[in-house]
Amino acid sequence: MKRTTCKRQPLFILLAALFLCLCGCGNPGETKQQTKAFPADTEQAATQAEPKDTEPETDDFGNDLPEETLSPETEQTNDSETEGFVLETAEHPQDIPVTEIVTTDSVNLRIGPDTKADVFQTVRPRTVLQKVSESDGWTKILIENAYYYVKSEYVKDKPAPGERTGFLIAIDAGHQSKGNSETEPVGPGASEQKAKVASGTRGVSSGLAEYELTLMVSMKVRDELQARGYEVLMIRESSDVNISNAERAQIANQAGADAFIRIHANGSENSASNGAMTICQSPSNPYNASLYPQSKSLSVNVLDALCAAAGCARQSVWETDTMTGINWCQTPVTIVEMGYMTNPAEDAAMADADYQYKIASGIADGIDAYFGIQ
Ligand SMILES: [Zn+2]
Repeated sequence: MKRTTCKRQPLFILLAALFLCLCGCGNPGETKQQTKAFPADTEQAATQAEPKDTEPETDDFGNDLPEETLSPETEQTNDSETEGFVLETAEHPQDIPVTEIVTTDSVNLRIGPDTKADVFQTVRPRTVLQKVSESDGWTKILIENAYYYVKSEYVKDKPAPGERTGFLIAIDAGHQSKGNSETEPVGPGASEQKAKVASGTRGVSSGLAEYELTLMVSMKVRDELQARGYEVLMIRESSDVNISNAERAQIANQAGADAFIRIHANGSENSASNGAMTICQSPSNPYNASLYPQSKSLSVNVLDALCAAAGCARQSVWETDTMTGINWCQTPVTIVEMGYMTNPAEDAAMADADYQYKIASGIADGIDAYFGIQ
């Protein structure tokens, strides 16, 4: 992030590195994100477990869109030079043929095809990059008007939609900007009625409404699943909608979704309550009991993987026949209650983009596991 300002002054670098070591942290923003331990001699992103001041990592992890990867430091990288590598720029980047690839792990983007070359940025798994060519184990990529290099073993061709899995996943970001207290039957043919859409809970620390948080996470789940080769149907991508819970289920039914993931956050009068749970119908559901085995498997797989990825407490799979949005389903379904917005710490975590990426990748892992993929 600040590494380009004094490249040709080794003494200054040493002193600066020493100062950073003494301070204990060269980049406070990165320390909370990286928890995975990598082999020390790979090109995967180094973790804070081994802070080498010889090779400062400069990731800021909050971004994985191509335009966002170009932080203000890009301007400074024109004179960036380490071990003889100089940033190579493209005069007419729009004329350069590229193919889309995705990263398979956290990995460094460098200005030259060598682990000694300066790190431009560390990107997260499944970041989409534009590949120009490949040579000697390094893939050359184009970001805006400059070339960077990434170790080829940590990228693969981006699957076309549906290419890898052939599965369609419907995602419903729970709630909407205004609840709808009109009622609808809790299941097909039911006499019992419930509100079409409840207004949801609200974050005690973040101040976020549940419908805002569920959409943030749902968009990340969408991106993650698409990068893995799933087709994705979003029930909503805006909060200014009015779609009842039964209607959401029917949209997924009509699309022939192979699984329906409904993203919610929990609330409790007990502010200490924390952790994730998933919800599906019971084996005696009067409307769609035949889908119970699949929904239960989906719920277990998603809950296990979500808790593993996010590191949160695992509550349980709740089997209930009281949920309109489940009862109307003719597709395997799970409601993901990803954590408690009434718990100050968990609410703050869920509002954090890095944590949201963990949740999203955990949900995708659970979907992979449900379909027996990898
Ligand atoms: Zn909810």
